Amino acid sequence: MQVLLADEYGFCFGVERAVEMVEDAIAAGDTVRSLGPLIHNEQEMDRLSTEGVATISEPVQIGRGETAVIRAHGVTPDVQRELEDKASKVVDATCPFVTRVQKLAARAAAEDRHVVVVGSPDHPEMIGVKGYAPNHAFVIRDETEVSGLPRLRRPLVVSQTTIKAKTFFDTAEAVRSHTDDEVQVVNTICSATRDRQDAARALAGMVDAFYIIGGRHSSNSVKLLAVCKEQCKKSFLIETEDEIDAADLVGVERVGVTAGASTPDWLIQKIVAHLRSLSPKEAPPLKP
Ligand code: SF4
Repeated sequence: MQVLLADEYGFCFGVERAVEMVEDAIAAGDTVRSLGPLIHNEQEMDRLSTEGVATISEPVQIGRGETAVIRAHGVTPDVQRELEDKASKVVDATCPFVTRVQKLAARAAAEDRHVVVVGSPDHPEMIGVKGYAPNHAFVIRDETEVSGLPRLRRPLVVSQTTIKAKTFFDTAEAVRSHTDDEVQVVNTICSATRDRQDAARALAGMVDAFYIIGGRHSSNSVKLLAVCKEQCKKSFLIETEDEIDAADLVGVERVGVTAGASTPDWLIQKIVAHLRSLSPKEAPPLKP
């Protein structure tokens, strides 16, 4: 049985950078506290917790002498200031692609322009971006919500980094029809999610079974599963190798593997090695 990895899989640039920054802080002897889970992967969070990383939910929980970590989603300027006041050190692991959206929003607000951000209002990244344009930003999910916006002053339209391009451009068009003012549209979608989906789609048509390694609560992993299932019915979302049922591999010659943007490489390699060790040519004995 051949085990084939998709061309793009696993940690995106921003998540990899955040984990490396945390590891550097641990190596420096810091007591590390992440504001919110650093990544959506239970196994990697378990590994980091054995290295002493704990998760806090509010800045007030930071103790003197501790190092606070801002994860890749970023935070509002108010939260950042609170962390800087309380912690002995702040590791700002905000993904540079998210920082770009924050800066664009802040600049537009400083020019007294409105900012329309296309994304999920309750997503931490959106809460952070909104904080950079107080009283000027509106976070909306899609074009159907544009009619509910007030009259917009020279709006800037940007996006959550992980949304679909079609949703963004349809919403930008709806904003253009909603105002007579000049509209500035800046596509701030990050390509990491799309690249992983394109690579999975390309491989899914060539294999008999597909394993997507990722957390069940990781939305990009769930989307990868849907993409793979379009072409490969035997597609499974798994968190560990224990979830692989050898019966699913009977008669399978080629297995595809991909992983969500929060899945660490050590876990991917462990599961790939396990798949390669399986010998599915014969049916496994029936369970009693
Ligand atoms: S998905 Fe893109 S924007 Fe989000 S953390 Fe990863 S690289 Fe950064």
